[in-house]
Amino acid sequence: MNAAPATVSVADLARLDHLAAERNLALVADAPLAPLTTLRVGGPADRLAVAGDRDALLGLVQLARDAGVPCFILGNGSDLVVSDLGMRGLVIRNRARSVTLRGSEMRADSGTPLALLVRRCVAAGLSGLEFGTAIPGTLGGAVWANAGAHGGSMSELVSAVEAWDPRDGQTRLLDNAECNYRYRDSRFKHGPEVILAATLQLRPDAPDEVAARVAANQAQRIATQPLADQNAGSVFRNPPGDHAGRLIDAAGLKGRSIGSASVSTRHANFIITDRNGRAADVRALGDLARGIVAERFGVELEYEIEFVGEWPPGDVGVG
Ligand SMILES: Cc1cc2nc3c(=O)[nH]c(=O)nc-3n(C[C@H](O)[C@H](O)[C@H](O)COP(=O)(O)OP(=O)(O)OC[C@H]3O[C@@H](n4cnc5c(N)ncnc54)[C@H](O)[C@@H]3O)c2cc1C
Repeated sequence: MNAAPATVSVADLARLDHLAAERNLALVADAPLAPLTTLRVGGPADRLAVAGDRDALLGLVQLARDAGVPCFILGNGSDLVVSDLGMRGLVIRNRARSVTLRGSEMRADSGTPLALLVRRCVAAGLSGLEFGTAIPGTLGGAVWANAGAHGGSMSELVSAVEAWDPRDGQTRLLDNAECNYRYRDSRFKHGPEVILAATLQLRPDAPDEVAARVAANQAQRIATQPLADQNAGSVFRNPPGDHAGRLIDAAGLKGRSIGSASVSTRHANFIITDRNGRAADVRALGDLARGIVAERFGVELEYEIEFVGEWPPGDVGVG
């Protein structure tokens, strides 16, 4: 249920505030979003609410729908570039994180951090999610993106997703096939449904072995990615048969900067930002890299990170 980059009037926000007060739901006005993302750029949300559990998440998305105001679900903000103008409407920070285990089946609320699920898998001796250890997102964000690493991806594990559809106000249980997973893609990227919870099908294994694979994946990440810097993971999707980072590196762009944003010298498919960085710099540097790679190698890179919020005319803002 991502916010369109639509304008939201003062009357719309007044209606939202009024309904929220009636339902005893707390909203924060003009809330800074940069600290809630890993890249730490971008302006404020008109209104921000925190969902502490599944029912609160459902209550908040229903609030936005009833008020007729666009709504955006913020997981851990690890795949996002929020525009400098910020986001219109209601942003819901999803911190619903209840987890239940039944045998090798794990069901969790969509705001649960993947890292927490990985820890639960290690403790319970369950294999399958070891790749998730270095993905700093929530379960909902990972299902949305069909996140993956080290040869694994969410689509191989997710047996069911509980999703709420603002078009008819219904909650549905979707099976794996209905989620239309592709490389870093799912039905949720193309529609307004809100992921409330998901069920993962894991495999029993010795806890030591699971822990060893998690540690190996972590070590590989620490060795290759600029984890001490502000970033949003891979900027571009890998084109078929190649790596975006290899192409950007071969184009001589490692270390190239525009304003507060630089191409990481450690991994060329990462853009890192200074403190008080600007989303416009990230966008300009990404576009520059795309243009140079297209010119040099004839490959059109596609953005992996998502640009959200209200962008000045001419920039591609999606919500
Ligand atoms: C250091 C680093 C390393 C990374 N490594 C990887 C990697 O190896 N593999 C990989 O795939 N990604 C990687 N990422 C990217 C990112 O962590 C993943 O895409 C992650 O799944 C995003 O989850 P999130 O909760 O942060 O989503 P957010 O960034 O908060 O949101 C992303 C999108 O998902 C939508 N969304 C989130 N939750 C829901 C929900 N409950 N219902 C509906 N829509 C929702 C949001 O509205 C938004 O459109 C990395 C990022 C960083 C910073």
